[in-house]
Amino acid sequence: MKKPVVTRFAPSPTGFLHIGSARTALFNWVFARKHEGKMLLRIEDTDRVRSTKEATQALLDGLSWLGLDWDDEPISQFSRAARHAEIAHQLVAAGKAYKCYCSPEELTEMRETARAEGRPPRYDGRWRERDAGQAPPGVAPVIRIKAPQNGEIIVSDLVQGNVTFRAQNLDDFILLRSDGSPTYLLAVVVDDHDMDITHVIRGDDHLTNAARQSLIYRAMGWQEPQMAHIPLIHGPDGAKLSKRHGALGVDAYRKMGYLPEALRNYLARLGWAHGDDEYFTTGQMVEWFELADVNKGASRFDFVKLANLNGRHIREADPEYLFAAMRDLAGELEREHDRKGLVAHRNSVISALPDLQPRAKTVLELIDLAQFIYATRPLGMDEKAAGQLNEQTRSMISDVIGSLERIEDWNAENINTAVREFAGKKELKLGKVAQPLRAALTGKTVSPGVFEVMALLGKTESLARLGDQAL
Ligand code: GLU
Repeated sequence: MKKPVVTRFAPSPTGFLHIGSARTALFNWVFARKHEGKMLLRIEDTDRVRSTKEATQALLDGLSWLGLDWDDEPISQFSRAARHAEIAHQLVAAGKAYKCYCSPEELTEMRETARAEGRPPRYDGRWRERDAGQAPPGVAPVIRIKAPQNGEIIVSDLVQGNVTFRAQNLDDFILLRSDGSPTYLLAVVVDDHDMDITHVIRGDDHLTNAARQSLIYRAMGWQEPQMAHIPLIHGPDGAKLSKRHGALGVDAYRKMGYLPEALRNYLARLGWAHGDDEYFTTGQMVEWFELADVNKGASRFDFVKLANLNGRHIREADPEYLFAAMRDLAGELEREHDRKGLVAHRNSVISALPDLQPRAKTVLELIDLAQFIYATRPLGMDEKAAGQLNEQTRSMISDVIGSLERIEDWNAENINTAVREFAGKKELKLGKVAQPLRAALTGKTVSPGVFEVMALLGKTESLARLGDQAL
């Protein structure tokens, strides 16, 4: 029987879920869901200074917000240190690894000689065959693997294909440090084995590690998981992703007003393609995802594409869901006036949303667009809106009020008819009437149609706002 798929996301806690790591998590998640398997979470918390409770929590929060749920309890790599050491000692007992008593001075000298001779600085294997009886007194050894000295090591990777490494470039790397702590190379292999991981999906900066790690699998006689090294994300200019390019935590994207489903969509597109499809739902992503369709080359982060996709997801979203996203974001950003206004006018905001959605690319823009609903009189004007109001337009507004007052059944259609009739009588283009009305009613120059705005605000509030600006 085929083994059920088990992937893992193995971040080191850095205080936030970096956008690049988020994509690695997403690929692991999508692949596991597609195969109805599991995605496990392993916190690589061996750096005791950085691995605080808060840093780990920030990772979990980032994953949860992004909707990437994991199976089982998260595993702490640090807590498994004794097991890692046990394997290192087993390898020594089996003659596949050995204790090395080199002093730091010897290692420095080794590196310098290699450099002088134009060779890469590799450990020369001097304790490989030496008897422990020759160990200098009082020196705690490290444990090194006995790596093959010749030939090739091939990593067969589901994304990169077969990648060949020359054994002589890999040397007898350390498994266990002299203080008994495992190296990253050892810990990852032991954990992946014990967790029954079938697919290791991670950044291609780990490709050389994969070659080294495969030596540990072989030495233990363990079956290697399938490897899939995904290309890194670069900035729009092709250089390494920097903060300016968007190398931020997912929390920063949340605060900029991106929806998790849009970020999932965009991150999936960064490095993976399903034909020419740019926009897709998470369900489609799970259905379509194949590791074979992951690009080999680096992808470029593009804020404009992300914003466009976010706009598309906003258009497709359910108003009640968007309302919750707006309220939560206003709360998170400590925009109390907006949060309270949204909550107090929940129904009006939800009924206005279908008109607002096509006009916004972010949840922040949605909040700005909804502000007119709960704005209090007299309305503050943004600069452009203030520019719409002068003696002439204010006097026009006084006249319109007269026409509007006569409407008995206050709805968008009747308001539309009344304003059009007014414009016709005054020989004004509709826009010449609508723009100053919009400014007076919303304090902005972008809003849903003015007739819808007035219908939404109700007759009393609409006429009062217009009255505030009339001559
Ligand atoms: N902890 C490593 C990192 O954050 C990942 C290790 C792995 O996936 O094997 O880059």
